[in-house]
Parts: sequence; C-alpha cells; structure tokens
Amino acid sequence: MKKYILVVDDSLTIRSSVEYVLKQAGYNVASAVDGADGLTKLNGITSSGEGVSMIISDVNMPNMDGITFTKSVKSGSFKSIPVLILTTETQEVRKQEGKAAGAAGWLVKPFQPEQLVTVVKKLAN
Ligand SMILES: [Mg+2]
Repeated sequence: MKKYILVVDDSLTIRSSVEYVLKQAGYNVASAVDGADGLTKLNGITSSGEGVSMIISDVNMPNMDGITFTKSVKSGSFKSIPVLILTTETQEVRKQEGKAAGAAGWLVKPFQPEQLVTVVKKLAN
C-alpha cells in the first residue's frame, strides 16, 4: 500500500517546493489547493485503498482555511492522521487555534528543507 503525504496550500510555489523536498526524502506526495480540495483528495486517496501518513497544511487559503480544514480532519474518520501547519502566521493566538483544532505541529515559512524533513519523520504514521 502506497502511503502519501498530503500537502495543502494555495501557493503553487510552496506546494512545489514542499513536494520536491519530500520526494527527495523518499515520500509519495499528493497535493491540494485549499482545505475543501484537501478533504476531496483525502477521500479520493483513501477510497482507492491507499493511505495518508500525514498532512501538511497552510492556514490562509480560499474556500476553506487550514484551521477549519484541520478541525474537519480531526473530527472525522481521518482523526489519526497527524496535521502539520506550515504558515507565515507567527501569532501565538493563531498557533493556539491550530493546537485547539488538533494540529500536531506548527512550522513557519520560509522553511528549511532539513527542518521540514525532520518534523515529517517524527510525525508521519
Ligand atoms: Mg496561503
């Protein structure tokens, strides 16, 4: 069974760079453009019999933001999937919102590739 890391970000640049770093580190990567698309991709991957090891999500996105997306993931059948928030947001209040939503970690952009891989290795199921 293939296991994926799902990257959810409205920025193509971020999606591409995260995807590049993770693929270099040996992970399979799927991506989504916002939280709503993230839920669709999550359902699509799992219904095809494959698994999602973890999710890396932006906060500020159209349609469904990363906090709402995380809440939705963590309150349904995907609640065992760790969610790492990757954002430009540094405010403590936002971090607390992420934590309350069920996020396992919070990483601030721009990220260092080695730092991202270290966190992913720690969190991925
Ligand atoms: Mg964004």
